[in-house]
Amino acid sequence: MTNTQNGAPPMLGLMQEWPLTLDKFIEHAKRWHGKREIISRRADGRIERRNYMQVYDDAMHISGALLAAGIGTGDRVATLAMNSVEHLAAWYGISGIGAVYHTLNPRLFLDQLVYIVNHADDRLIFADGMFAPILAGLLPRCPGVRRIVYLTPPAEPVILPVPSGSLEDFVAGHDGTYAWGMFDEHSAAGLCYTSGTTGLPKGVLYSHRSNFLHALISISPDVLNLSSADTILAIVPMFHANAWGLAYATPGIGANLVLPGPRLDGASVHELIIKEKVTFAAGVPTVWLALLDYLDAQGLDLGTLKRVIIGGSAMPETMLHRFRDRGVEVTHAWGMTEMSPMGTVCALTPPVTDMPFEEQIPYRMKQGRPPFTIDMRLVDEDGKVLPHDGQTVGHLQVRGPGVTKAYLGEADHALDAEGWFDTGDIATICPYGYMQITDRAKDVIKSGGEWISSLEIESAVSMHPKVALAAAIGVPHPKWAERPVLFLTLRPGHEAEPEEFIEFLTTRIAKWWLPDAVYFLDEIPVGATGKVDKKKLRVICGEMAGVA
Ligand code: AMP
Repeated sequence: MTNTQNGAPPMLGLMQEWPLTLDKFIEHAKRWHGKREIISRRADGRIERRNYMQVYDDAMHISGALLAAGIGTGDRVATLAMNSVEHLAAWYGISGIGAVYHTLNPRLFLDQLVYIVNHADDRLIFADGMFAPILAGLLPRCPGVRRIVYLTPPAEPVILPVPSGSLEDFVAGHDGTYAWGMFDEHSAAGLCYTSGTTGLPKGVLYSHRSNFLHALISISPDVLNLSSADTILAIVPMFHANAWGLAYATPGIGANLVLPGPRLDGASVHELIIKEKVTFAAGVPTVWLALLDYLDAQGLDLGTLKRVIIGGSAMPETMLHRFRDRGVEVTHAWGMTEMSPMGTVCALTPPVTDMPFEEQIPYRMKQGRPPFTIDMRLVDEDGKVLPHDGQTVGHLQVRGPGVTKAYLGEADHALDAEGWFDTGDIATICPYGYMQITDRAKDVIKSGGEWISSLEIESAVSMHPKVALAAAIGVPHPKWAERPVLFLTLRPGHEAEPEEFIEFLTTRIAKWWLPDAVYFLDEIPVGATGKVDKKKLRVICGEMAGVA
């Protein structure tokens, strides 16, 4: 920037040029924490251990092989893989040469994956063998992809229309001494598409700088409070929202990193926590629910685990208590693909820290405060800025170096005239600065002209001991425009009548918020990123009302 006060060129500092590129994280880990481990769990349950020196070397070889395969600056290289040490090495190998890693979510529908791969113009895909059947459907419709490299082998050979082979074969004979980085820190490093629940998926293109700053800030005490003494379990997938930055933060401090692969059931996650002496873990509420139910059923504890971070969807209050009963501190967080991805973290600050636990609960249940480099505000329908009084509900907007300004391939910026990005979430912000999501804008329930928070209904009912998962939606109503109805799945071994839950809610939410109907489902539908699919619920609701 050259807009100085008097038009003269700025006086530049005399410090070294050191672009904030992501290779610096793994290089630091190799040089200063070389023996700390990356622990990968395989689909068959085996555990594989590599250290940072080895992962650095693996990533270097991948860079060499990519260059030899004709991949260069700015080319997109996709990954279709669970969290593993090979996936991590691929990220560093790709972005180290200035190419862009593009994470594909294997849970998406094939048509969506085809659209995304073609839109991104992916050249090569690093894939887990377990996803070979997806590749067989994908590749005939994605002519730009020239090669498949298997990070882990397929169970049986699958015929593909482009050359494919193992990672070992891909890197064999290639140089392990490439000079990484050396380019502008604003260069693109990673690409992830939004889940496209409304309209087509959109590409969010992270820069080296945005991921670098995000990781640095996430380490600090008032955010994730990570240290080299931690063993960090990243359950949050690398294919969704950058694994919350842990692939950078962890080597940045030389902590051990545990990558769980595809086994995310309660028993497997518990075994990993105990065996690897995990101290910190990150994941979405559904994973934790499965773990907690397993612990209850088996009468087990959580060993060395001290803290979990929960985000991606709203955390039910019971989760806070169930972890606390086992000596584990819970931190709620909120973010999105369009950020790098964390936007708020509910690390407590004074004066909330000084309150007794019972008084802290309403704050702990909020999504939290924005870390440094993120700014946020609430606005009404007309863009008027709303107060931070904890009551006024508005559209949540964010800005900062870790927030997207435009989607890949779209000419228009995704920002308003003042540079704010509309998150699509509806929220309050309290006087202490804690943000609370009340709804997605597209999911709000408007009854008699007033908003009812579906998240608050869900949060209140999930305190009922029989409730496993709750989801509230609005359904059309002739008098009130919309009324809430509630869907529940029950915890194993329980039966219930709808009235129990209405009665339970009577003392917890306003009378006019009480759902008009309660339906039980064996399973509440969730989308590709593990969030409740309210669009599908509306269809189910229509069908149920039809047969009622
Ligand atoms: P995605 O881009 O798929 O990560 O989805 C981002 C959206 O997930 C946000 O805009 C929120 O609507 C929702 N979300 C993420 N974290 C939370 C949370 N802790 N509580 C409630 N909603 C959340």
